[in-house]
Amino acid sequence: NADIKESMYLVSEFAKNYFHNTLLHSEEGKAIGLSYFKERGFTNETIQKFGLGYSPEAWDAFTKEALGKGYKLEFLESTGLTIPKEDKPFDRFKGRVMFPIHSMSGRVLGFGGRILTNDKKAAKYLNSPESEIYHKTKVLYGIYQAKQAIAKLNNCYLVEGYTDVIQFHQAGIENVVASSGTALTPDQIRLINRLTKNITVLFDGDAAGLRASIRGIDLILEEGMNVKVCAFPDGEDPDSFAKKTSYDDLIAYLENNAKDFIQFKASLLIKEAQNDPIKKADLIRDMVQSISKIPDRIQREIYIQECSRIMDISEQVLMSTLAQLVQKDI
Ligand code: ATP
Ligand code: MN
Ligand code: MN
Ligand code: MN
Repeated sequence: NADIKESMYLVSEFAKNYFHNTLLHSEEGKAIGLSYFKERGFTNETIQKFGLGYSPEAWDAFTKEALGKGYKLEFLESTGLTIPKEDKPFDRFKGRVMFPIHSMSGRVLGFGGRILTNDKKAAKYLNSPESEIYHKTKVLYGIYQAKQAIAKLNNCYLVEGYTDVIQFHQAGIENVVASSGTALTPDQIRLINRLTKNITVLFDGDAAGLRASIRGIDLILEEGMNVKVCAFPDGEDPDSFAKKTSYDDLIAYLENNAKDFIQFKASLLIKEAQNDPIKKADLIRDMVQSISKIPDRIQREIYIQECSRIMDISEQVLMSTLAQLVQKDI
C-alpha cells in the first residue's frame, strides 16, 4: 500500500512536469494555454511558483508519453490521469489549463483543469477523482505555497478558487488557500489550524459565496478558531478584485471590511430586521446559534456582550437562550 501510494505520487509528479513543459514549450501549449494565462494576467514567475500547465487536445498524448517513459498503466489509471478503455486508454484532461494540487509538504496529489472557453454548457473545472492519494475534502489548494506566510502572519485568507489564490500571491498576499470546489470541511479547517488560529473568509460576492461563508463560520467556530469575513462587491471574486486593485488598496479593503461573525451577520440582515420584530428575533437566534458553537466559555460570553450591544437586547435573555443550546459547561 505504501508502495502503491509512492508510485502514484511519482506518476503525479511526472504529470505535473509534463503539463508544465507542454505549456511552456509546445506550439499548442504556448498558443492556447500560455496565452490564456497571460490574458488572465499571470506572470512567468507565477506560472513557475504554482507549476501551472496545459494538457493537449489529443486523445492520449499524456498517457502515451507516460507509458513510453515506463510509468505503469495501473498507476496512470488509479490517479485518474488516464481513463481505462479496452485497448485505447485515454487522457482525462484534454485541452485544459492545469493546476496541480499539492500537499502541505509539496507532493502532487491531483489536478484541477479549466476549459479555456466560457462555454456555459461544459463544466468549467474538471478535477482528479478521489484516489488513495487525493481526498478532496482533506486538501486545500495553495497550502504548500502559503504555509510559511500563514504561520508568520498568523492569519489565513480562505478563498473559493484556484485563480483567487494565484492572483492574491501575485498581488503580494501569500497567506491564502482555497477550498476549491468542495464545501468547506472540518479536515480542511484543521489543516489551517496547524499553522494559525485565525481565518478570514473571502468568498465570492454572489449568493453562493454568501451562503458558503455563513456555513463556513460555524465550522470554523466549532474548531475553536477565530473567524472573520470580508465580503466582496456583487459579481466580484478575490481574483477579479485583486487584479484591478493596487496592493495598498487591496490591503486597506481587507482591513476595513473584515468583520467578526456577529458584525457580518448583522451587516447582512440588520436593515430588514430593524423594523420587523420577527426577523430581528430570527437574526438574534441565528447569532446565538453560532455563538453556541464556540468551545471556549469566555469567548462565548464576549460575543454575547457584542450581540447584546449590536442588536439592542439584554444579555440575560441571550445567556438563557445560549444555555439551552450549550449543555456543556455553562
Ligand atoms: P474562474 O475565475 O477561472 O472562472 P473561479 O475560481 O472564479 O474560476 P468559481 O465558479 O467561482 O470559479 O468556482 C470556485 C472554485 O470551485 C473553482 O476554482 C473550482 O475549484 C471549483 N469549481 C467550479 N466549478 C467547478 C466544476 N464544474 N467542477 C468542479 N469544481 C468546480
Ligand atoms: Mn463562484
Ligand atoms: Mn470565483
Ligand atoms: Mn474567478
